[in-house]
Amino acid sequence: MTNDANIYQKMAAITAELQTVAKNLTVETAKGKGYKAVSERDIIDAVKPLEAKYGVYSYPVNRETTAEEMLEQDTQYGKKTQFYTRLRTVYRFVNINNPDDFIETVVYSVGIDSQDKGDGKAMTYGDKYALMKAYKISTGDDPDQTASVDAEYTPSRGSFMTKGKVVDFTPTCADCGIGITDAEHDYSARKYGRPLCRACQRKANG
Ligand SMILES: [Zn+2]
Repeated sequence: MTNDANIYQKMAAITAELQTVAKNLTVETAKGKGYKAVSERDIIDAVKPLEAKYGVYSYPVNRETTAEEMLEQDTQYGKKTQFYTRLRTVYRFVNINNPDDFIETVVYSVGIDSQDKGDGKAMTYGDKYALMKAYKISTGDDPDQTASVDAEYTPSRGSFMTKGKVVDFTPTCADCGIGITDAEHDYSARKYGRPLCRACQRKANG
């Protein structure tokens, strides 16, 4: 690939080459539980050498905490407190040969932790998800299967943004407009007749 390839051509080339790499990332577990979760490290190890080869640099250019709350859960051992953090991350993919040529992807991620690591988990997940979205890496992970509060994080669908034009929409709360997960969207649409975030669901309950 020549140096005057644009960011779309470069990312398409990386996507094509990653298809074989991505296959090796899905490992069946011994218990027959389906697929092992792909770690952020796996994704970065697969993506970074190809980005270097084709002259692309990617990084989280902007991060915003869109929700932060303490959840209390009744368990058989008493009350259990968990910290819930939701982040909006703008991840930028830059053409190294022409830094004005870049693509941005927006992802929403949620981190839930019994200490205060919700933030770090949400960041890690957001970055991993941005790379997976941008390079169309499919794995055995099904994000909607991890939607319970016990889950480490509940990722949501990201929107793909090119030069300010949103191609694919992320589900958002009808009342306050923040990004919500697919599972929250489906649950609240059924229960309240409109998609709502957790905070607005509580308000709707009165
Ligand atoms: Zn809301």
